[in-house]
Amino acid sequence: MAEDKKKAGPLDGAVMTAEGLSFKGVIMNPVVESCTGCERIVELESVSYCPSYAKPAQKWIRGICNFATHVKGTLDKQGKAKVNPLKASKRAARGR
Ligand code: SF4
Repeated sequence: MAEDKKKAGPLDGAVMTAEGLSFKGVIMNPVVESCTGCERIVELESVSYCPSYAKPAQKWIRGICNFATHVKGTLDKQGKAKVNPLKASKRAARGR
């Protein structure tokens, strides 16, 4: 019974149109350099797309993409990663 169910890929049903890759009526833009290493990236026809966000470049305009799997935290005004010291100490105590 469960064998009949096929797990759909993140971009199943996407079609290439003249404007670009269309998924559920939205044109998907390719990922940007900052996305490199993110586990959400899906490659279609040799182009990498993000199934979580149609315009990856906009997710990086104000700092780190909140959907990113390869980078955590936020950036301060100098562009350095900012970590909450309380959370960092709890993570260290747990051994993560
Ligand atoms: S989740 Fe964010 S970092 Fe990952 S591919 Fe999508 S836009 Fe890029």
